[in-house]
Amino acid sequence: MDFGFYKELTKIVPAERVLLDEPLKNHTSIKLGGPAEYFVTPENSEQLRKILFLTSENGVDCYILGNGTNIIFSVKGYKGVVVKMGPPQDIITISEGEDPEHAMIRVGAGASLIGLAMKAAEAGLTGLEFAAGIPGTVGGAIYMNAGAYGGEMKDVLKDVLVINSLGRYENFTVKQLRMGHRYSILQEDTNVVVGATIILSRGDKEEIYAKIRDLNGRRRDKQPLEYPSAGSTFKRPEGYFAGKLIEDAGLKGYRVGDMMISEKHAGFMINVGEGTTKDAIQLIMDVQDKVEEKFGVFLEPEVRIIGYHEVVEVHRD
Ligand SMILES: Cc1cc2nc3c(=O)[nH]c(=O)nc-3n(C[C@H](O)[C@H](O)[C@H](O)COP(=O)(O)OP(=O)(O)OC[C@H]3O[C@@H](n4cnc5c(N)ncnc54)[C@H](O)[C@@H]3O)c2cc1C
Repeated sequence: MDFGFYKELTKIVPAERVLLDEPLKNHTSIKLGGPAEYFVTPENSEQLRKILFLTSENGVDCYILGNGTNIIFSVKGYKGVVVKMGPPQDIITISEGEDPEHAMIRVGAGASLIGLAMKAAEAGLTGLEFAAGIPGTVGGAIYMNAGAYGGEMKDVLKDVLVINSLGRYENFTVKQLRMGHRYSILQEDTNVVVGATIILSRGDKEEIYAKIRDLNGRRRDKQPLEYPSAGSTFKRPEGYFAGKLIEDAGLKGYRVGDMMISEKHAGFMINVGEGTTKDAIQLIMDVQDKVEEKFGVFLEPEVRIIGYHEVVEVHRD
């Protein structure tokens, strides 16, 4: 820890919001990852902007963390600043407006996506039912263009407010974000989402709740929600389903240490005890090799693997 840098950080954010050597496994749904040198939870986007500026000025690495539901950190953790997005950057405001068919929602990037979907349902707004079981933040969901059951963030998003790599506020329309399968242009540069505008249609409250119950029931039936995981391990390769390829390669239940391919849904890698990041990486690479050998398809990880320098490539350009 650099005391001078720590002092500068605590001039921006109250000291109780700057944790040192905070275990990242406590902040990821798959329960993996060593300590973050500095773990900071800003109170607002202005503090966030100053942190980004300070880190870039001092050559300190900085990583943005939402709800940690799509991330695996190294066992060595993260050298630099991990910025946790969450409350109080989670304000949701619904503007009813004059339009009889649509309503607009402004939402902070740290808001829970499930919370947003439920608030929309409560207001009789349809379009976010697909998101009512995706456990991330709104910022993480936009960055990843999260989606399920035929819906994705790009269908409901109007625009986002980001802080760019120069520490300036910038607006992107949904078109400019070039969102694709688990992709947005935000992944190409340091762009931190601080807020978004969502447009939803007016609908029937009971029908919206019924759809949410149905989709979440399907999740509970098919997904190993009782175990720590990061959701789907791999992106969907064109023309295939990753889970089906893994299952057909005979890998259900395949295990490295305490990291295992779920018996319930082969698309999920679960932590069945004291799994480590090293085990997770080995498992990912074994699955990639076996599926490619058998079907000639390369599985690209959907989970973001951060700060793990000593491993062989897991992504391909
Ligand atoms: C049980 C389970 C089920 C899941 N089901 C689905 C599903 O159906 N569909 C789906 O798409 N995903 C699913 N996921 C994966 C995950 O929930 C989504 O990818 C989610 O959008 C990630 O949001 P997060 O806030 O947790 O992001 P994190 O995991 O914290 O971060 C993911 C990436 O987003 C970046 N990021 C986070 N916040 C911001 C921000 N404000 N600005 C810029 N970058 C940011 C991070 O730097 C990181 O690169 C599931 C995960 C679990 C554990």
